[in-house]
Amino acid sequence: MAPILLITGGSRGIGAATARLGAKHGYDVCLSYLSEEARADTVVAEIEALGRRAIAVRADTGSEPDIMRLFAAADRLGPLAALVNNAGVPGRAGLVEAIAGDDLERVLRVNVWGVFLCAREAVRRMARQQGGAGGAIVNVSSVAARMGSPFEFVHYAASKGAVDTFTLGLAKEVADQGIRVNAVRPGMIDTEIHARSGLPERVAKIVPTVPMKRIAAPEEVAEVILWLLSDRASYVTGALVDVGGGR
Ligand code: NAP
Repeated sequence: MAPILLITGGSRGIGAATARLGAKHGYDVCLSYLSEEARADTVVAEIEALGRRAIAVRADTGSEPDIMRLFAAADRLGPLAALVNNAGVPGRAGLVEAIAGDDLERVLRVNVWGVFLCAREAVRRMARQQGGAGGAIVNVSSVAARMGSPFEFVHYAASKGAVDTFTLGLAKEVADQGIRVNAVRPGMIDTEIHARSGLPERVAKIVPTVPMKRIAAPEEVAEVILWLLSDRASYVTGALVDVGGGR
């Protein structure tokens, strides 16, 4: 049976690219989405066309019942081998002094709280001491974690800082259970997150400051994620891998 890969937020962007590449690497894929059902179904169809199994589950990673339902659906495919904690939201742009409590809560809930709970469910299934076969987790952070995103997205940047610290701690906690935990920190990636964040002009403003002077395709992040999940990265854990074109 093919190893099972669970990706949160697999209907678009980096998550969808990772789902497609994961299928090419031989995984059967369970992907989640929030509202774009048709887009998620398209990714499923693309994976099935590659000869692999795939399912799409509507599950808000800001909801514990949804997370439990998502993992139960993945269990029906087979034993979980890999988790990509990808779903994330930028929140509304603005100064910290103007931040709205509900926006801050949503950003921290989806980007941090949901990442913790999804990792918890993965560890419960993968841990050798609990009868699992080991596995690998990749958390999708951001270069924002070390830049701070002042005047725009400090709450988002801080949430990704928490993802980095979580990655370091969990990696050490489960290393002897056969589970590797790493993070990728993308820079400017060509997805809809920018247009949807309310600052569509931000991409054109930032790209000239990227040493490589270009935005990246989501597939360029997916390549690094699939490498970190694979046995080719067998001695890599607790790593925060920048995919930022030098930024
Ligand atoms: P995107 O194009 O906006 O796609 C987001 C994906 O996450 C979609 O599949 C969306 O589902 C899903 N999603 C959003 N909120 C969710 C929730 N509460 N529960 C479940 N799924 C949810 O984003 P992206 O650019 O690919 O970003 C993916 C990850 O990379 C995020 O963690 C982001 O912070 C990080 N990142 C992105 C960049 C960049 O430049 N793009 C840079 C650094 C880090 P629907 O389609 O149903 O809405």
